[in-house]
Amino acid sequence: MASQRQIDVGGVLIGGGAPVVVQTMTKTETANLQATMDQIRTVADAGADLVRVAVPREQDVQALAVIVEQSPIPVIADIHFNHTLALKAIEAGAHCVRLNPGNIGGPEKVAEVIALAKQRGTPLRVGVNSGSLPKHLRELEYEDPVQALVSAALETVELMESLDFTNFKVSMKSTSVPNSIASNRRLAELIPYPLHLGVTEAGTKWSGSLKSAVGLGTLLADGIGDTIRISLSTFHAEDEVKVAWEILKALKLRQRGPDLIACPTCGRLQFDMDTVVAEVERRLEAYEDPIEVSVLGCAVNGIGEARHADFGITGAKDMGMIYSKGEPLKKVPTGELVDELFKEIDRYYAAGKTVLRDEAAAAEARQWLAENEDLTAMTPERVAALEAAAAESDAAAGAVLESMLSPAGEPSVLDEELSPVAGRRFSRR
Ligand code: SF4
Repeated sequence: MASQRQIDVGGVLIGGGAPVVVQTMTKTETANLQATMDQIRTVADAGADLVRVAVPREQDVQALAVIVEQSPIPVIADIHFNHTLALKAIEAGAHCVRLNPGNIGGPEKVAEVIALAKQRGTPLRVGVNSGSLPKHLRELEYEDPVQALVSAALETVELMESLDFTNFKVSMKSTSVPNSIASNRRLAELIPYPLHLGVTEAGTKWSGSLKSAVGLGTLLADGIGDTIRISLSTFHAEDEVKVAWEILKALKLRQRGPDLIACPTCGRLQFDMDTVVAEVERRLEAYEDPIEVSVLGCAVNGIGEARHADFGITGAKDMGMIYSKGEPLKKVPTGELVDELFKEIDRYYAAGKTVLRDEAAAAEARQWLAENEDLTAMTPERVAALEAAAAESDAAAGAVLESMLSPAGEPSVLDEELSPVAGRRFSRR
């Protein structure tokens, strides 16, 4: 369930049904203005809606005022242990401040920060982390780590409410994917505030992306989560943004840029598809429109699998073909497939999103396709299609059989099982 409440972080709405917000964190020393601003512009170009910067020292909070002014996207200041820096970050105009009330120096200091946040209208991100739960929850953490996280988050929420402050989002992070899922599911039922999702210290680009996709994807598919940050061990914060977008695009929660679909390849492949797919993916980064582009490793299946794609290519050893919406456009030498694909895409945009088809070239491509298509080949795609059709016809046959055996309103014999008492039937209902 989406959160009921909404907060506004520098014009970006979080929660209350707003689109899921993508954020990341810079990896630079914040006081190094040049490096920090370069990275902020890079992540903004990659699609970050918000960026967080670490503010551990006095020089960082001084740089923050300039960063807030120059940044193309709203800036969140990340503060730990030092309530004076939190106050200064709010004064510097940070669009949001992230702090953990448990490590900021006691209730009076928390109250001081909240008073200034209220006065300046600055939202906060408050939360808890599995690695730093309060001492009184340690025993519970041993017995039930999920409930310990939820209890710590609820205590933080109660503290905010006791100070009459509701302009915040909540994060509850764990290095464990199952615990992240279970705790956020539980918390989402208990509080109305927006949730920030992330798997903390997820790992390298490869494993961290997968853990995040599983953990965050599961919650997002349930409608839980209002903003996400992918934590990866890489200096390239833009990679975190790209992964976040792939998760949101896969769930059809947001749309940004082209969608590349590609077959998994198999023994029928006759050209260097790895290189071709990587090149197509790289060149598609220059496009913002949500166009769908497909790459098929061979034409054995025809191009029916890619009939939804706006554009696509399929190749063989020497020759390949470009198609659009399941219809051939032209055949070209395999080595020119990628260049010719992008020429067609550019022509499409130049013509106001109209596919320009040269009938003679299309006829030649159709003939090439007919020569290369093999209607008898059991390809992975055809096996999957046959299995899906079989499952559908099984279900349909089952429904017909049941309707024949069960007069309207009466339990079907399919819902009954033989009783252990010989010859007697009993209903499961
Ligand atoms: S049969 Fe399917 S998976 Fe194999 S190369 Fe052709 S399109 Fe790709």
